[in-house]
Amino acid sequence: MNLAMRDKAVNWHPYTQMKTAEDVIPIVKGKGAYLFDEDGKKYIDAVSSWWVTLHGHSNPYIAQKVFDQLNILEQVIFAGFTHEPAIKLSENLLRLLPKNQEKVFYSDNGSTAVEVALKMCIQYAYNQGKEKTKILAFKNAYHGDTFGAMSVSGRSVWTKPFGEMLFEVVFIDTPNAENIERLKNEIKSCKDEIACFIYEPLVQGAAGMLMHQPEHLSELMKFCKMQNILLVQDEVFTGFGRTGNLFAADYLLEKPDIMCFSKGLTGGTMPMGITTCSQDIFNAFLSEDQYKTLFHGHSFTANPLACTAALASMELLLKEETLENINLISNKHLKFSKILQQHPKVENVRHIGTILAWDYKTGEGTSYFNDIRKKLYQEFLSRGILIRPLGNVMYLVPPYCITSQELDFIYRNILSVMDQLKA
Ligand SMILES: *Cc1c(COP(=O)(O)O)cnc(C)c1O
Repeated sequence: MNLAMRDKAVNWHPYTQMKTAEDVIPIVKGKGAYLFDEDGKKYIDAVSSWWVTLHGHSNPYIAQKVFDQLNILEQVIFAGFTHEPAIKLSENLLRLLPKNQEKVFYSDNGSTAVEVALKMCIQYAYNQGKEKTKILAFKNAYHGDTFGAMSVSGRSVWTKPFGEMLFEVVFIDTPNAENIERLKNEIKSCKDEIACFIYEPLVQGAAGMLMHQPEHLSELMKFCKMQNILLVQDEVFTGFGRTGNLFAADYLLEKPDIMCFSKGLTGGTMPMGITTCSQDIFNAFLSEDQYKTLFHGHSFTANPLACTAALASMELLLKEETLENINLISNKHLKFSKILQQHPKVENVRHIGTILAWDYKTGEGTSYFNDIRKKLYQEFLSRGILIRPLGNVMYLVPPYCITSQELDFIYRNILSVMDQLKA
């Protein structure tokens, strides 16, 4: 039996209707921007394998560091114990974040980083004898797939079966020059019940790479602060260079109380989540009273291998050549976006840093399930490019090691596929 058949017998894949899904592609090797299947066909990974891979697949520097750490200490309970990789990673990360971020809490992925943030905010109020149990979030938000993270995400086909069980969230539009005063009024009318405002800064990834302007988000953040609403900035996707700056925070005038990280955190090599917070949040849990403890932890909290991978990835990220290549990607995306705009089948071209997105005009609305998605996906795969549209939204989120030539190859094929599907 080949790998695809053996897989079908035993595996249940994420976000996949297993009855109608095409056969999966067994990948046997990754190198740089490329994935190789069992027949030796190679694919350029234009989506960084669900937005996680920063420095290419099987990066030798990260691999060596993880291998060395594996031979020193692979795992240790993080309650009552610590280790240098976690200490160093926290020190190095905090140095890059807004100055008010002072404590680091480890977990396993983006969803858990969000869960921890929400629990911090709700218990922050509880520990001070206040009851604030509602959350403020953006419409179309995506913060993960566990129950808390799902609750603060926009209601959609993904959350429908769980509708009644999700907790209460006040959803507002993303801000722009026209609606900002209305949004402030909406917040004001329920401010006393709101524990926190959670948001994807500048880019709503899973909703289809929807973008809003830093000045409007900054204004909204400032307003929430005045209303004593804690700010949770979910940088799970935008963190570590994605938006052209190291963090989306670098575009914003206000500082969040809490930040969430995952995806690019380890350069896409190992699952890990981080929630950072201000001293003020941390202090609200300090007490002789055991009930004020943050009772949260995962078996693999601050796993030394994942911390080591993150340290190595951050070292690579801060190298001159990486930052230069992030700039190169951004500049090339910008140029290509001008060409894309001219195409009759393209609308709403949007770009920030290494992220380029546009809508493919379908004439049949923007359902996540439309057929065009499947057609585009398969066509790009046959041309050796991994692009995974969200409904009719197409986007590129390449690893930072991608070359100018490889980007040109992708751009050329995009135009050719769009022309071909014009009929
Ligand atoms: C992907 C994502 C998450 C969830 O992360 P997982 O590691 O998939 O659980 C949370 N927030 C944002 C903004 C994301 O893009």
